[in-house]
Amino acid sequence: MIIENAHVVTVSGDEYANGHIVIDGDRITAVGPGKAPAQDGERIDGGGCLATPGLINTHHHLYQWASQGMAVDSTLFEWLTTLYKPWSKMDAEVVAGAASAGLGWLAKSGCTTSTDHHYLFPKGRGDLFAAEVEAAREIGVRFHPCRGSMDRGESQGGLPPDEVVEDIDTILAETEAAIDRNHDPSPGSMLRVAVAPCSPFTVTKELMLRSAELARGKGVRLHTHLAETLDEEEHTREQFGMTPAEYMESIGWLGPDVWLAHCVHLHDADVKRLAETRTGTAHCPSSNARLGAGIARVSHLLAEGAAVGLGVDGPASAELVPLAGELRQAIYLQRARYGPTSLTARQALEMATLGGARCLGRDDELGTLEPGKLADIALWRVDGFHAAVDDPVVAFAFGRTPPLQRLLVGGRTVVDDDMLVTVPQDEAARRGAAAHRRLMKLAEEVL
Ligand SMILES: [Zn+2]
Repeated sequence: MIIENAHVVTVSGDEYANGHIVIDGDRITAVGPGKAPAQDGERIDGGGCLATPGLINTHHHLYQWASQGMAVDSTLFEWLTTLYKPWSKMDAEVVAGAASAGLGWLAKSGCTTSTDHHYLFPKGRGDLFAAEVEAAREIGVRFHPCRGSMDRGESQGGLPPDEVVEDIDTILAETEAAIDRNHDPSPGSMLRVAVAPCSPFTVTKELMLRSAELARGKGVRLHTHLAETLDEEEHTREQFGMTPAEYMESIGWLGPDVWLAHCVHLHDADVKRLAETRTGTAHCPSSNARLGAGIARVSHLLAEGAAVGLGVDGPASAELVPLAGELRQAIYLQRARYGPTSLTARQALEMATLGGARCLGRDDELGTLEPGKLADIALWRVDGFHAAVDDPVVAFAFGRTPPLQRLLVGGRTVVDDDMLVTVPQDEAARRGAAAHRRLMKLAEEVL
């Protein structure tokens, strides 16, 4: 497959106003200016298009597609305590529908690799983890599901009600089984599992420690929420006498195999430690704004050389947010607080691609357009309304998300002419709406 005549941004340092990309199988074999050398293969005319690496979503909760639009004027803790009720009733069918719609929606906004953080497993309601893995296989995006968990209910000083938490032995056994059944460490992998206890205010220290031990024994990555709100900082100071980041460091949870969602409320020393330990951050600007949580210190983290990726977070705290739109949200929030040079369009694009790949430990094969890397490529149409802006990267990052001419995952077409093609687009949307109705019905008695 050959893409020609596109404005190619490699994110590895080169940019070609009129360039080509050659793909063989699931890999990129050549990138450069002008026409590709004559060779056989499908030729895609990228005239009027911007070619970028596929976007990487570093934080999500797919099941929340079924519980959007609730507790819309609440703080994180208020929002969580409202939503734990319907979530406690979800089953595998809800998760399957929510994941189809959520992943289809992500693909439509240029996402070629997505994580998911699923941390609620009500008993006797089917295999929720398998349901989302199957949905990702159908939609065709690269998937990094994180087996989440909560073991600290109200009776132990945690936030969630006791009936939505699991016991530590079940969590560790189920997490290990999820890794053994699904994790594929091979090059070009479409599926890698991470271990992801939910947050410092829903998980015991013992579970954090044993999760890290399990993940490191299995060679998989660690993920959790951190420093999302000031309420959380108050909680960790009270419970552990430390800031959230200090607490993480004290239990061996900073390091190159860890990425953390949010990191909104960091102190100067925390910013330095995240960079020094090569701990990644998943920045979710819309969700942080929607919940009034604050503005993450992204420009400070980047200035220290820390790995920062973008995430949309769950749709219940960031309804219908497109991943490509998070570039603008990130730029605007940084600039609103730190001034007009604090985050550029190209820095935001780098966060959404290479930064995300660094968070997931995939920067050797994802995140840039270079020979040898996986052919995960987004081709954006910037020749319509966007064409009045000369710099297509500025048009893409500052403006409304442009239509996708093509989205490739490992060389396979997932979106063509702005339509999802792996699964009928209308059907993915219908499944999402059905998942919402099903969850509301299942949760009738607790709402
Ligand atoms: Zn989250």
